[in-house]
Amino acid sequence: MNQLRISAKALAHNFWALKSRLSPSTKLIAVVKANAYGHGAVAVAKQLEALQTDYLAVAYVAEGQELREAGIQLPIMVFYPQIAHFKTLIDYRLEPVLYSKQTWHAFSELVQSTTAKYPVHIKYNTGLNRIGFLPEEANWVIANAAKSNMSLISVYSHLIESEGPRPHRASDKQINTFLEIKALHEKDTEQSPWFHLLNTSGVYNYPEQQLDAVRCGIGLYGFANHPEWDQSLQPIATLESVISQIHHIQKGETVGYDQGWVAPKDSVIATLPLGHADGIGRHFGKQKGTVCIGATKVPIVGNVCMDMLMIDVSNCKCQVGDTVQIFGNQQSAATLARQSETISYELLTGIGSRVFRIWEP
Ligand SMILES: *Cc1c(COP(=O)(O)O)cnc(C)c1O
Repeated sequence: MNQLRISAKALAHNFWALKSRLSPSTKLIAVVKANAYGHGAVAVAKQLEALQTDYLAVAYVAEGQELREAGIQLPIMVFYPQIAHFKTLIDYRLEPVLYSKQTWHAFSELVQSTTAKYPVHIKYNTGLNRIGFLPEEANWVIANAAKSNMSLISVYSHLIESEGPRPHRASDKQINTFLEIKALHEKDTEQSPWFHLLNTSGVYNYPEQQLDAVRCGIGLYGFANHPEWDQSLQPIATLESVISQIHHIQKGETVGYDQGWVAPKDSVIATLPLGHADGIGRHFGKQKGTVCIGATKVPIVGNVCMDMLMIDVSNCKCQVGDTVQIFGNQQSAATLARQSETISYELLTGIGSRVFRIWEP
């Protein structure tokens, strides 16, 4: 059976490891978007609530709705809400990030007549060119906030490459731009938002820019995009599968669709019930990716199928029913991700819903 075993202990370790790098007054916004990076949003959010994190963040409204329906009470900011979902967002007491004049107008209209000012967050685009108000629009935001029925809880931006070696010209430029935006907002006496700029790698690389809060996702799950920083964290998930069948094949026989692998000698092939529908994509096939049987690394051979993949176990004693580790203590998700030129984020968030999540206290 495929299972993603998740260690509550490791999650708590990472939470405290990140907190230990912050001054006591800096808030930690725990990012649980994309099903908590594939680990299971509700279970992760419940533990983060127990650990007394200050805030949760998700990408979309439906993700916040799922957490509210599961009873999560923490404030939840929604990074990338769509205008069409604003009504639902209000129904579930979620806090939108407004990132354009369009989103601003649409949301401020909806909350014009609410009794209390509605909490919102403002995102600035300081160079990533993905989403956000332009720095030049700061005065517009400040002037309109004064006339609105909204309370600016926080103002933030996002770095292009927070893990990149310092000095980093583009990041430094973004930091300067953001500090100018911050100064403008601070002149406004009506609103007193907090300010934030850093994700996980930023906490390690730019601790002096931690400002009032940081937004950590991948760090909670055990990675910080740098081998040295990773040392202070513990991957919280172990992905395991099991050998379903073993074949003894002769030199010249092929394995899998499109004859993806031709046996260079008589070989032993094991089949796992895990495929690209479970998040182990075709890019791991053809000997790019490895998996672990005990401490032995063996290659994935041929093309990964939707529900299965095959591994070459010619040099490794094993039998049907044996556990195979895809990532965990024998090989980290970051290492496996690198084998197919992707990153831990993509590998983790892609683990399919058929894989059982097992929460280990
Ligand atoms: C996903 C996200 C984060 C979290 O980044 P990590 O590198 O996972 O810590 C922070 N801020 C924003 C705006 C995000 O979209």
